[in-house]
Amino acid sequence: MPVGESKGWAMDKPDLKEMSPSEMRAFCERLGEQAYRARQVFRWVHGRGAVDWREMTNLPRALRERLARVAVIGRARVLERQEDRGDGTVKLLLELADGETVETVLLRHRYGNSVCVSTQVGCRMGCAFCASTVGGLVRPLTAGEMAEQVLAIQRDLGAAERVSHVVLMGIGEPLENYDAVVKFLRLIHEPDGLGISYRNMTLSTSGLVPGIRRLAGEGLPVTLAVSLHAPNDELRSRLVPVNRRHPIAELLAACDEYAARTGRRVTFEYALIDGVNDLPELARELGRLLQGRLCHVNLIPLNPSGRGLAGSPPERVREFQEIVTRYGISTTVRRELGAGIDAACGQLRRRRAAGFGVPVTPDGRDGV
Ligand code: SAH
Repeated sequence: MPVGESKGWAMDKPDLKEMSPSEMRAFCERLGEQAYRARQVFRWVHGRGAVDWREMTNLPRALRERLARVAVIGRARVLERQEDRGDGTVKLLLELADGETVETVLLRHRYGNSVCVSTQVGCRMGCAFCASTVGGLVRPLTAGEMAEQVLAIQRDLGAAERVSHVVLMGIGEPLENYDAVVKFLRLIHEPDGLGISYRNMTLSTSGLVPGIRRLAGEGLPVTLAVSLHAPNDELRSRLVPVNRRHPIAELLAACDEYAARTGRRVTFEYALIDGVNDLPELARELGRLLQGRLCHVNLIPLNPSGRGLAGSPPERVREFQEIVTRYGISTTVRRELGAGIDAACGQLRRRRAAGFGVPVTPDGRDGV
């Protein structure tokens, strides 16, 4: 496939949004242009989020016209925009060139503006509580389509504010789309692009061990988050089916390797599901499992996602946290952001998809 050509959009012309700086240079050289032009174009596309050739005012008009003939700048259309007026969370439903849709969320934290990026259209991991997997996997996203999600949020923020953090916790399993995801992380890290620090990026996985090991050797100091959700194989296999392929012992060994090679502590995500994985004895089992590891536990009361499961009540969350903390493990309870706007992954896309019209009632619980 020619350099920069996208599988997801712009089938006929190469997409500048897919190109790394070196691919952009090669592309410009083939057009007979000098290397510094490639840098200017990269800055427009990945730094300033330009979507119109006319914006590229430091390029000669003839070059702009030529580029417009031979290439495209991939762009997503905002189909829906929701904003939580309380905490400033913004959720965009984006339409890609082939009509598929993905969700992207801006989460405002005290430490910065974080974008929650989707890595696939749909998902085939089959987790019991997650809305993204209903309907299965449609297709992977390209690196440019992931970058466009961050750029769409940056455009929404305007010039006064910057995206500082990126979490791969939207729709999809990032390690199933390994090459495109790593290319995307490099693209948004580029100093001529968004310049986001690797330390401010978090990749969340349901537990694909070979991908974790590969990522450990990539030399990117991104935070690894692992969706653990249960302290034993019997329960985890029911909630996160990939556990049957890569059970907990194997998963934790890969996490230890990741921590050792990158020096980064691994985050374990644990969605607390009422009466399922939130019992005190499971908290103790989790404490024993993780004791002594370079890690952090993020407890998340389950967001109702139309799958017949409910989040744990606050007092059970507190008790669970207290027990795990006793094992010397650092824990946080994830602050619920965007509660008023279908915050849980995959809900917005799913609500729009024909046949999955689960209404969410105003009190935030599923209308089923
Ligand atoms: N596929 C990756 C990343 C996407 S999901 C993964 O599994 O990690 C990001 C996080 O949200 C995961 O920890 C996932 O288990 C969790 N999640 C999914 N549905 C949820 C829900 N309804 N409530 C709370 N967390 C949920």
